[in-house]
Amino acid sequence: MRKIYGITMMKWKTDISEGRVLCLSCEELHSLGDNECQRCGAEIYQRKPSSIAQTWGYVIAATLFLIPANLMPMMVVTSLGSDEGSTIMEGVIYFLSHKDYGLGLIIFIASVAVPVFKLSVVYYLLLIVHLKQREKALLGLKLFHIIHIIGKWSMLDIFVVALMVSMVQFQGLATIQTGAAAISFCAAVIFTIIATEKFDPRLMFDN
Ligand SMILES: [Zn+2]
Repeated sequence: MRKIYGITMMKWKTDISEGRVLCLSCEELHSLGDNECQRCGAEIYQRKPSSIAQTWGYVIAATLFLIPANLMPMMVVTSLGSDEGSTIMEGVIYFLSHKDYGLGLIIFIASVAVPVFKLSVVYYLLLIVHLKQREKALLGLKLFHIIHIIGKWSMLDIFVVALMVSMVQFQGLATIQTGAAAISFCAAVIFTIIATEKFDPRLMFDN
């Protein structure tokens, strides 16, 4: 360990520092110059090609889609001949004010808290790489694993909206449709997933 600017720098071992190539699928180590894993057949590279540029591109696209996803109506309810749209937050407030705390909370977590958290983490990981903050790399790796795990649940909100639509229509109360925000929301979720796929966490540990 050595001290730079009063910060203790850890000496990380990475596949680059050891002159090896790591398979990201099965975690087998290979000699430099190999480009196919002998154990699982996956394509291998020391670092994902143009990882940072692609991650930036997809995370910015996801951020841009998240804005209309929150400002435009997620549902359009037609009752007595008039259309009324409601955004995600209006939906959350509606359910909370009708003491439907569970549903309100699920929609808030799935469609506001989780997407914002995931995007913040991706920006944070990119900053760790750009500012060469290697002492933050372990924290970054943990956050990277967390957003990978919750990635599977990102479409939960779309299912909740679809469920509400079918329930209301089944009861014949009103005509209810998904609004323009639903498409933007799907795009934001998909671009966030691609952004995390493109990010190579090993970059945080490199010099
Ligand atoms: Zn492999």
